[in-house]
Amino acid sequence: MTLAVRAVFWVVAYLGAVVAPLVFAAIGANHPEHGFWTNFSVALGFAGLAMMGLEFALVARFRPVAAPFGQDALLQFHREIGYVGLAFVFVHFAISAKWDEFTPAKALAAPALVWFGMAALLALVALIVSSVWRGRLRLSYEAWHGIHMVLALVIIVGALAHVFFVNEYVSSLWKQILWALMSAAFVSLLVWVRIVKPRRALTRPWRLERVTPERGDTTTLTLKPPPDLSFRFEPGQFGWFAIGRSPFSLTQHPFSFSSSAEGEEVELAVKSLGDFTSQVGSLAAGTTVYVDGPHGVFSIDQDEGPGFGLIAGGVGIAGLISMLRTMADRRDARPVILFYANGDWDGVAFREDLEGLKERLSLAVVHVLTRPPANWTGESGYVTAEVFARHLPPGFRRLQFFICGPDPMMDAAEKALVELGVPAERVHTERFDMV
Ligand SMILES: Cc1cc2nc3c(=O)[nH]c(=O)nc-3n(C[C@H](O)[C@H](O)[C@H](O)COP(=O)(O)OP(=O)(O)OC[C@H]3O[C@@H](n4cnc5c(N)ncnc54)[C@H](O)[C@@H]3O)c2cc1C
Repeated sequence: MTLAVRAVFWVVAYLGAVVAPLVFAAIGANHPEHGFWTNFSVALGFAGLAMMGLEFALVARFRPVAAPFGQDALLQFHREIGYVGLAFVFVHFAISAKWDEFTPAKALAAPALVWFGMAALLALVALIVSSVWRGRLRLSYEAWHGIHMVLALVIIVGALAHVFFVNEYVSSLWKQILWALMSAAFVSLLVWVRIVKPRRALTRPWRLERVTPERGDTTTLTLKPPPDLSFRFEPGQFGWFAIGRSPFSLTQHPFSFSSSAEGEEVELAVKSLGDFTSQVGSLAAGTTVYVDGPHGVFSIDQDEGPGFGLIAGGVGIAGLISMLRTMADRRDARPVILFYANGDWDGVAFREDLEGLKERLSLAVVHVLTRPPANWTGESGYVTAEVFARHLPPGFRRLQFFICGPDPMMDAAEKALVELGVPAERVHTERFDMV
């Protein structure tokens, strides 16, 4: 099956899952007293519930689901569809609430269905607020992640209990069975992500072989897979890593593979940016690492072309240097041009390795520095359409482009390439800030 067919399949499956609870509720329903608005409100409530349940599936790192879209696109969808779900649930609440009974005394005497519904709604609001304003609320990623998971569970359990206590939707045995199956699907997803996958990882511990400091506050971690595992990845893909932690730990960190996909050892290039990454330089050789991967569709192996244009900002070089190293090992003669944006010259990670790769590849490297040294004759400032136009070879519109770096640089580079006439389907991105 081609990726496009698979994408259509998953979109149809998603839509089917969103309307399924509505169909369960509608079959056999006979409520002539329900007017249009009540039916509309119920439909929105059911669709909202299904969307919330499916949010778990979108972040469950299922490779077959992620393959046609890319994990970053799935995460973006997870984020944006959350707002749609919230809007559905709000309208459901606004239409269904008995506003004349909204007094503290009556609220306390409200039936269980109201309490569970309100718990789900408030948890949903808290989840969206804590995600949108994580920075302002000064929540660390780990704290936010923990809160996010607890709130997500409250939403699902609260909403399912709300449906259960409304009763008319679970009145017959077969409807109870259908709802039980749907609830079991949610629970299975959680069990898969939090128990089955980590247990499997536990039986396959990797070993940290070497820790090598690089320029630009970056550290190369060289990892060795367990002897019985023949691990393969495509250049540009990434994994989720629990380094020196249990595979059951709540937080794992995503890093791109930076080594050649043809080598025996697996390397990561980690930039010191936060509490975990600032400590990787002091990790001891021999540390146990658990790996969930490979993931991702950002790879020259997925989008073959007559040549490649690579655009990296800072540690965005990690997956791109893997592409170059792999091409060199494969003696791939196709032309590659790398635009590499950094602050200062001393902080250009893998600067010397790139010079070495030029000897083995048909590779041109254009360094772009925001703080160039006094005698700098190369490009300075940001990556722009003018910078691209000065260096891209004739026929560049047929190349496949891969961009990875900070969000503003990626947005600018993507826009500039499209302005220069590169078809959007030949521009591929990997966003490190996707969470
Ligand atoms: C697909 C992908 C590939 C990546 N590849 C690389 C790479 O090759 N090299 C590299 O240096 N960095 C890479 N990153 C970024 C890296 O995962 C984060 O910088 C790192 O997890 C930050 O952890 P911290 O605890 O040091 O920072 P914190 O201060 O805790 O967080 C800094 C920011 O990093 C993000 N972050 C933190 N923890 C996680 C997590 N567990 N999962 C996802 N995002 C998180 C959050 O947006 C957070 O605001 C990649 C990210 C993604 C999504």
